[in-house]
Amino acid sequence: MTTRDTKYATLDELASEIARRQWHLDGVLTRLPGENYNARISTPDGRYVLKITTDGSTDVTLEQSVLHRLAQHGLPVPQTLPTITGEHLHRFLHDGIECTARILDHLPGCNWRDVESTPDLLLDIGRILADVHIALTGFTPPGARRTHQWDVAKAQQHRSRIEVFRDDRTSNALEYIMQLHAAVVLPGIAEAPEGIIHGDANDENILVENDAVVGLVDLGDCMQGALVQDVGITLAYAMQESGADLQTLATIVGAYHARRKLEDAEFELLFPLALSRLAASALIGADRMDVDPDHATWHSHTKTTIDAMHRFVHIEPATAELTFREACGRTKADRGPDRDSLLRRRTRHMGGNLSLAHGTPLHMIRGRGQYLHASDGRPYLDLVNNVCHVGHCHPHVVDAISRQAGRLNTNTRYLHDTILTYCERITATMPDPLSVCYFVNSGSEANELALRLARAATGAHDALVIDGAYHGSTPNCVAMSPYKFNGKGGSGQRDWVHVLDMPDIYRGAYRDEDAGSAYGLDVADAIGTACRNGRAIAAFFAESMLSCGGQIPLPDDYLACAAEHVRNAGGLYIADEVQVGFGRMGDAFWGFQLHDVVPDIVVLGKPIGNGHPIGAVVTTPEIAEAFDNGMEFFSTFGGNPVSCECAMAVLDVVENEGLQDRARTLGTRMIDGLRALQTAHPSIGDVRGHGLFLGIDLVRNRVTREPAPEIAEGLVRSMAGCGILMSTDGPHGNVIKIKPPLVLDASDIDMTLRCIDRSLTRLQDS
Ligand code: PMP
Repeated sequence: MTTRDTKYATLDELASEIARRQWHLDGVLTRLPGENYNARISTPDGRYVLKITTDGSTDVTLEQSVLHRLAQHGLPVPQTLPTITGEHLHRFLHDGIECTARILDHLPGCNWRDVESTPDLLLDIGRILADVHIALTGFTPPGARRTHQWDVAKAQQHRSRIEVFRDDRTSNALEYIMQLHAAVVLPGIAEAPEGIIHGDANDENILVENDAVVGLVDLGDCMQGALVQDVGITLAYAMQESGADLQTLATIVGAYHARRKLEDAEFELLFPLALSRLAASALIGADRMDVDPDHATWHSHTKTTIDAMHRFVHIEPATAELTFREACGRTKADRGPDRDSLLRRRTRHMGGNLSLAHGTPLHMIRGRGQYLHASDGRPYLDLVNNVCHVGHCHPHVVDAISRQAGRLNTNTRYLHDTILTYCERITATMPDPLSVCYFVNSGSEANELALRLARAATGAHDALVIDGAYHGSTPNCVAMSPYKFNGKGGSGQRDWVHVLDMPDIYRGAYRDEDAGSAYGLDVADAIGTACRNGRAIAAFFAESMLSCGGQIPLPDDYLACAAEHVRNAGGLYIADEVQVGFGRMGDAFWGFQLHDVVPDIVVLGKPIGNGHPIGAVVTTPEIAEAFDNGMEFFSTFGGNPVSCECAMAVLDVVENEGLQDRARTLGTRMIDGLRALQTAHPSIGDVRGHGLFLGIDLVRNRVTREPAPEIAEGLVRSMAGCGILMSTDGPHGNVIKIKPPLVLDASDIDMTLRCIDRSLTRLQDS
């Protein structure tokens, strides 16, 4: 017998005695299921339920007051029987712990779980849930703002237990549901109508007879919460009946709605809430299995929970929502046109050389924080998009854009405060003498302008670029992008462009601690060759960590050496921070700051507007003066008030939400986790990066470092199946890029690590 059962066994005798002494009830005691001690007392005059709390902390006052209110409104809930001294409960000490005993009426009927659900019963279940909410409207008992382990709003607390499930099918289902909970349920219930909820209207707490509900018991989990949670919880138990389908659930929802109108936004939450309850039950169950595998009641739902999860998890949340809406006579949620018609129209009207990401085309209809939501209702964790730096559709940024768009949008030929404040704030993040800003509309335009500045300031024409680099889509930027001109459809290298070897300490020519200066000497050699051929260097373009090149951190001293050689030859050093800037590196706000160098020109793009099109170039007064040769520089949209408000709001969020620090701590968590996975997965050749700009280099052989693009592709596909978006890059296509919005959290990182682990195990096994 287990500890808990032993504890309860010793209670049986005491319980009978308490019933006799405090209530004058003398009868046969039979234990009932439940978290605490519950027993039925059968006396010649009737049946009662004795409930004893034994954990010393449960306060039953809230439950008692809710029961009382529900009874006043005619709901079939048990009432407490006063003790002989007129109290509603009796307190006593057992094994030094304060316990409370109550006696409640024993209601008729049997557990919903033990009968087959007819449509009438389902209708009655929906009705009673709504009646509970109606009866409790405006009721504000003290102590209702609380939580407990079954609180579906707090289901994330059980997420890390997923790792105890050893079969992929169950773990993947749990991962998906927990992500659905984080991305859909949590933001949704925060906005949904609240009240006092039952909190556990399950198939043992709903008592039924003749296809009708005759009792609702065990309000031990009642609390203040989003009302829709109660419906979701009950749906989770309806799902557990074999043969249950969406229509079964819709019958309950329709009956609920007929009494208490669900708000539009609540429809989206029902199905994810139901799945969340199933997942939480499975995870709590796994925990309890460790504590007590033979507990009398804890594991009664284990099998049906997992079975229901597998039966329902493949249903598109949007389909479930639609079914529920139809059951309530509500119009369809707008999911937009179907995917096939979008594909047809796209093929007709858009150029063929614009690829679609992630294999099966995804139709995204909403972005929020670190998640993208597809039209089928599934959320995806976006680990790819370093544009939405502060999270998709960050409210502060959205608000700044819409406020300014409603006030004034002009161009930079008028005086405007915002653009100047932005210049002051952005240059304050950079070392002197970088103090003059130009605004354009993209990273490409910014690099194009940087080239013009460099040519104007140096009188030279040529550019040095690093192999594998991408600097943009304009003709000059393509010419400076070996990634493009040496890639498919490329037309080769121009005479004014000089390509440097990637300073790659994993696969390159130099791999030791002096690699930085050795690669730096290569820069000097390249300059020497160019000069001997009568060329003159205007600029050396370098990303502060190589992105398209395969997420390659630059070795120490490389940038300092390279910049010195370039400057000695009369050229300028241009830092392309389009991918890595704005705190992503964690240890520094700008990537070049990791290398103790000061560029002559800094190029900003992508995260600067969190998705709003803006780019910028920051340079020194001296270079700006050289550029100011009489020809006007003007960009119609560049630096407009809306873009500047947007960029300012992005800076606010980076600062106010401590996102640089977050990039550091979460980046460390990810890199440590990936390195730990390296021991189990020989295909992980290298894990590298800074902050939240990381790369996983997949290899066929750790010794030869032969790239494994097929494993990289398989991994990206498998991760997309788990709801995590990643991408590959690098000259061999074997490097997984990780560069998420900085607002993701530790549980996203942990989920990613678990999914990589499982995916690689599968890929290597296959
Ligand atoms: N520089 C780098 C390093 C980039 O990654 C990119 C875009 N991927 C660009 C410049 C060009 O930016 P945009 O697409 O905004 O023109």
